Amino acid sequence: MLRSLPKRLAFTPKPFRAETTTQRRSLNATTIRFSGTVPPITPIEKLILEHSFNHLILSELKGSKQAVGPMSYATYMQFCLSHPTEGYYMKSSNKIFGAQGDFITSPDISQIFGEMIAIWLLSQWESAGCPSRLRLVELGPGRGTLITDVLRVTITKKSSQPMTIQVDLVETSLSLREIQSKRLSGAPASIQWYNSIDHITPSNGSFTMLVAHEFFDALPIHVFRKTDEGWKEVMVSSRVTESDESNSEQYPRLQHVLSPEKTAISTIFGNSSSRFQSLPVGSDLEVSPTSFRLARKVGELLAKHTQTGPSLGGCGLIIDYGRDHAFGHSRRGFKNHQIMDVFHRPGECDLTANVDFAYLKESMQDLVPVHGPITQKLFLTQMGLMVRLDRLLQSHQGDQTTSDRILEGANRLINPQMGEEYSVMGISTTGGPVHPFHLLSDASK
Ligand code: SAH
Repeated sequence: MLRSLPKRLAFTPKPFRAETTTQRRSLNATTIRFSGTVPPITPIEKLILEHSFNHLILSELKGSKQAVGPMSYATYMQFCLSHPTEGYYMKSSNKIFGAQGDFITSPDISQIFGEMIAIWLLSQWESAGCPSRLRLVELGPGRGTLITDVLRVTITKKSSQPMTIQVDLVETSLSLREIQSKRLSGAPASIQWYNSIDHITPSNGSFTMLVAHEFFDALPIHVFRKTDEGWKEVMVSSRVTESDESNSEQYPRLQHVLSPEKTAISTIFGNSSSRFQSLPVGSDLEVSPTSFRLARKVGELLAKHTQTGPSLGGCGLIIDYGRDHAFGHSRRGFKNHQIMDVFHRPGECDLTANVDFAYLKESMQDLVPVHGPITQKLFLTQMGLMVRLDRLLQSHQGDQTTSDRILEGANRLINPQMGEEYSVMGISTTGGPVHPFHLLSDASK
């Protein structure tokens, strides 16, 4: 049964650091606080207010002092990003990627990013004895830039080493699938799309190379707070209780509230890692059970021993902002290269949270060897970013504009923001020390 929550339990997350830069979906981007005209209600917001809170419709809420029932932040995030027609990633009218969109990602900043990833994946394939059947898997390919770059490098290997290539893409958004399909048209590989990694089966006859860049940060998180009685869940509730929903006092229309009691979910997932159990009372914790489940699937897909017998195994890279520990206040909205309140224009802004790499590791380390995480800067520089940059600059000698663009892109990938905030975790069944993860890194601290 949904219960009403007293307003005093309303919970405000700690503010993010605000600096004036529009570089990335990082915590260093500018935080926009609400001011001015109240934005019109979005379809997702309407759905949440109408259907998720006791099936009340907005007009019926007018004049009502009664608070309405809450939903978990994970459900809210899932709704906002992946609602079949109105979700942020599902709607073709949302301009997501690039300078004109809401954020720009590393593959679009510089081709060197995808090339270094391809070189690492192929080095593991070589360590496995260059199996002739190769399967490339990407989770959340976005505009398809990364897979295009990885495929291009892989195909250059193909000329010296005969192989067949299968590409499996996990993508829920039909509009993004269309963009990926155009990008990959003509590629000498068989390409298949899946709604979920659950639908991809371990392969006995091919070596699997998997990449997930900025995928796990988009998966739903639950938010918990440790109290004297145990973990309780921080929920999402309506603030629209007064007569005028366009009154700025009522905006954002949604808010965080603390559940008055422990629930099965808060107890199970709040204690799902020994790291969480040792956090002091008063701690807030963001946990993504979906990430744990999907990361375990990654482990199953790459493992050498599958339910149907031995497999050739594989390797993978998970790259995202985050660290080898849990976060409590990293969730944020993102629009036009700026951090937004998570309740601003639901469904029209990206929602994201830092990735707890230790949790991903815990999910799969009994299945596959896991390495890192290390910082993006360490990974890229150790994989040969400077050598590749030199070659690219040489091949554009005399073209100052292109040279400047190449240099700027490479610098952005390793500058203190992107180079340090992003972490890279490697998975490889080839055995032995794996370069460059055997090097010390501050991302593991
Ligand atoms: N990797 C790309 C895009 C990152 S944005 C890049 O670096 O540019 C996140 C991507 O994950 C989008 O393609 C989005 O549609 C997809 N996505 C988000 N949630 C998903 C889910 N639950 N299952 C499959 N794909 C998902």
